[in-house]
Amino acid sequence: MDERLLTGTMKINKANHLEIGGIDTISLVEKYGTPLYVYDISQVKHKAQMFKKAFQDRKIKAQVAYASKAFSCLAIYQLMAKEEMSLDVVSGGELFTAIQADYPSKKIHFHGNNKSDAEIIAALDYNIGCFVVDNFYELEKLNQYTKQRKQNMSILLRVTPGVEAHTHEYITTGQTDSKFGFDLNNGQAQQALQLAMQMPYIDVMGLHCHIGSQIFETEGFSLAIDKLVMQSKEWHEAMGFDLRVLNVGGGFGIRYTSEDEPLPIEDYINNLIDEVQSVTTKVQLPMPEIWIEPGRSLVGDAGITLYQVGSQKIIPDVRNYLAIDGGMTDNIRPALYDAKYTGVLANRVEDAVEETYSIAGKCCESGDMLIWDLPLPKADDKDVLAVFSTGAYGYAMASNYNRIPRPPVIFVENGKDFLAIKRESYADLMRLERSLY
Ligand SMILES: *Cc1c(COP(=O)(O)O)cnc(C)c1O
Repeated sequence: MDERLLTGTMKINKANHLEIGGIDTISLVEKYGTPLYVYDISQVKHKAQMFKKAFQDRKIKAQVAYASKAFSCLAIYQLMAKEEMSLDVVSGGELFTAIQADYPSKKIHFHGNNKSDAEIIAALDYNIGCFVVDNFYELEKLNQYTKQRKQNMSILLRVTPGVEAHTHEYITTGQTDSKFGFDLNNGQAQQALQLAMQMPYIDVMGLHCHIGSQIFETEGFSLAIDKLVMQSKEWHEAMGFDLRVLNVGGGFGIRYTSEDEPLPIEDYINNLIDEVQSVTTKVQLPMPEIWIEPGRSLVGDAGITLYQVGSQKIIPDVRNYLAIDGGMTDNIRPALYDAKYTGVLANRVEDAVEETYSIAGKCCESGDMLIWDLPLPKADDKDVLAVFSTGAYGYAMASNYNRIPRPPVIFVENGKDFLAIKRESYADLMRLERSLY
């Protein structure tokens, strides 16, 4: 197997089993059943520290905010708070969970393109660190509420710089034709800034952009930084705008399969810093704080999913389908984005490869395919399939389609396992339902 997929504490132990956090995955399966999400928590912490250290080493003022839509739950919020990370939330539900985790309010940044009144009020009540304002509708509401409450609030304006990161088109949000943010090129961003700077309780700290996801090159970030800084220079001269915070979003890539070649974290960060330093020097603006928002790159490759192998459909000369006991309900990314994953048989990792299987989920949907053409040893129903890099947008996007309960989430570290989220029961599935007769 490709050893580069064994990130963090993952390894193959003497029993030829996949091990994570010092624990044999097969013993986790015996204890918790399948499907099962497992997070190598020391790796999450390590990544968080690497992002922060990359800025500290260069003595750059920065905030590293965990984009928590990638994986949101009480325990991960508690972990991120302990690591002194900032936190992005995009909904009242994520905010509520952060509040339950006693997340330091000033470290919370609120995103989203259609924040409701109730969500805005909840965030004002908790007195979060900033709103990332997406549109005129939100800006006006925020103006009204802050005036009514005589409450100051910091904001960043989310702008679309018209830069396209090289990635799947469904997850590209930086181009002009996007539902997010104020367009930099058509004057709307400038108009929003003019309005916001006149609002009595609103402090515009700076600008935000997010140019895409699963980005492997630094050019997109550099282009976006250039545009935002040059534009800020014009706005500084025309209306006295000071760019104190430049938030360049997230999107740092991870390895899902052997084809992916992500940059080391410090390379992404050093490049961001170099670019901000060089362009601000060029246009003679002070160095702003740099904020980033990694989601996937903090939790993605720290997570694996374990499944029990089940039925097979062998179509001679066509394809071998191998079904597992989960699928699009616990990982919708292959169906939604054509995302690629790879995996191994966790109970005999290094056995010789004999077959090629396409891994099918158990949902009544032909599109419920997890992996196409995966080379594996000859599999049978005692085997456990481990799929790598499922820590981001897996549990977070899980559904109950076909009334399949969501799997539990286990954190592992130093030989200990912690049940972060219990397995849903059938009764849980019905807890909101009322009998008609
Ligand atoms: C989704 C998102 C992120 C995180 O993206 P990743 O690819 O998971 O790093 C960061 N910022 C914003 C605004 C986002 O929408």
